[in-house]
Amino acid sequence: MTNKELADLIYPNINKTVEDYEKMYPKRNLKEGAVVSRFAPSPTGFVHMGSLLTTLIERKIPDETDGVFYLRIEDTDQKRSVENGIQGIVNDLKNFDIKIDEGVIGEHEQIGNYGPYIQSERKEIYECFAKSLIEKGLAYPCFCTPEELDETRNLQELNKERIGYYGSFAKCRDLSNEERARRIKNKEPYIIRLKSPGNYENKIVFNDLVRGKIIFPENDLDVVLIKSDGLPIYHFAHAIDDHLMRTTHVLRGEEWLSSVPVHIQLFNILGFELPKYAHLGLVMKIDEETGAKRKLSKRKDKEAAVSYYHEKGIPVEAVKLYLMTIGNSNFEEWLNQNPTASINDFKFSFNKMSASGSLFDLEKLINISRNYISRLSAEEVYNRALKYTEEFDKEFYNILKKYKDYSISMFNIERTIKKPRKDYTSFSDIKNYTWYMFDEFFNKEINYQFQTINDIEEIKKILTIYIDKYYNYEDDEQTWFEKVKELSNELGYAKEVKEYKENSDNYKGHVGDVSMVLRVALTSCSMTPNLYQIMKLFGKERVVNRFNLIINK
Ligand code: GLU
Repeated sequence: MTNKELADLIYPNINKTVEDYEKMYPKRNLKEGAVVSRFAPSPTGFVHMGSLLTTLIERKIPDETDGVFYLRIEDTDQKRSVENGIQGIVNDLKNFDIKIDEGVIGEHEQIGNYGPYIQSERKEIYECFAKSLIEKGLAYPCFCTPEELDETRNLQELNKERIGYYGSFAKCRDLSNEERARRIKNKEPYIIRLKSPGNYENKIVFNDLVRGKIIFPENDLDVVLIKSDGLPIYHFAHAIDDHLMRTTHVLRGEEWLSSVPVHIQLFNILGFELPKYAHLGLVMKIDEETGAKRKLSKRKDKEAAVSYYHEKGIPVEAVKLYLMTIGNSNFEEWLNQNPTASINDFKFSFNKMSASGSLFDLEKLINISRNYISRLSAEEVYNRALKYTEEFDKEFYNILKKYKDYSISMFNIERTIKKPRKDYTSFSDIKNYTWYMFDEFFNKEINYQFQTINDIEEIKKILTIYIDKYYNYEDDEQTWFEKVKELSNELGYAKEVKEYKENSDNYKGHVGDVSMVLRVALTSCSMTPNLYQIMKLFGKERVVNRFNLIINK
């Protein structure tokens, strides 16, 4: 029986040829040096921060080279698929403003000429290539049961031999085609394996974009190509998909590095040009309990899921800026020199990536977010807070919407100066810092945090005299402060802190204590932005009303 007859017996319905697919998916018409990259997750429903970093780079290099970035869903391992798992990934990318040129753009939507971009929809394509390998004697059906494979493995472990299906351990490798056909017709279950032409004694050299030159032994394992459910194993799907989709750069986790010899062999025997590979180190964190470094885990760490940042209202740009600091070792310095530049202006380089992985530092990310928000204009803060609260805090959303101009002026306090205020670390933080600016929230429950001066009669006195004698809405900031000093003086408080420190026996306190009373009476809080500006923003009536709440107590 010839190999061709065996191949026809296994795949009687495959009529297309390898050449047909080569024609269907021609070489892309892109300019020299254009990078085609892809993000190829399983449909697990969410993007991990480590993958987001990879994706950011996978998007960036085509952007720098007029290339293409596409999303392919790798669902050949049904165990890793969850319901609506594709949509979750698409949403995460959308929320992070990572544009997909081609591929899967929704649970049931794909765009581009190199699809289908969901592996389970490409079964026929894999079968066609498997068939062609069987015809060439480079693949064969294997009937070994899981028990038999376990037995081989145990034996190898016992004898301290290399684990795997190779050489004399590859029991089905040298069956005759007649025997194979007999067992197939006998309905024995089987899978398709590669008939590896490799020799473990030979060395191959491979150049990783991040790790440089690596020397591996050649692959001699008869790895599985097609599983018992008819779907391909990662190695086979990777070779076929990345070839037919004309991927030039494969960026993936370092867990795939050891499989490179298998991939090189598969690309060779299939006659495909090898893409460039970059195997990226893990994103790790210091475990809170043990203090040891470990992988950032989607199970244990809330900050591992990119949805966390969206829900917290941490600006996408800040997350990206942070990720780039762990992506390229020279990025942070570049950012310090170009604080207002965008990531798009930065030139990414693979050799500035850490091969040993990187440590994830949420606090640093939050700090970048804080700086980022502090540099937005008041209008931008307003618009983005509106967008955030619309999704996550309807009550605040309605208030912000109702008081648009007022809110923008509020966000503008201490914003357009050289060192802007940096209160907010995220858009979810804004309410914590501004609620007292809105009567709707302020009136709900007031808990005054008076400080040094906390005798209510004294407080009432300060407020009354201030309103009656000193408060004038028209005053400029300097005059306003002069008046607070005079008020202090009239009531026995030092006009200057220094003066008080030198002669504390002569005074009840100092001007800072008095302005604290005004601040707390107005806002109930002891820490607020510039008091003068808040009073300006409130307007005379609201200032007096709030003071009266205490005076009339
Ligand atoms: N589906 C594989 C994974 O999630 C993709 C690896 C690759 O990018 O080739 O690890």
